[in-house]
Amino acid sequence: MHQRDLNQNEIVAYCDHCRCDTVHEVSLRLESTTEETEVTSQNLKFAKSPARQTMCTNCGTDNHHPRCAYH
Ligand SMILES: [Zn+2]
Repeated sequence: MHQRDLNQNEIVAYCDHCRCDTVHEVSLRLESTTEETEVTSQNLKFAKSPARQTMCTNCGTDNHHPRCAYH
């Protein structure tokens, strides 16, 4: 399988909509539990990520919670 080079914020994950592995764009949505002062660039990448959201770059589907994907 060939994959194009991924950006830092991209991962390959299964997309329910495309029914195959696609490139997903990862965005971290920090919720109110985390104070802004604690969020360094390193934390954003590696540490606690309360809500990691992935969006299929192929179809645009938000795959945050796969179990809620249907209906
Ligand atoms: Zn998709």
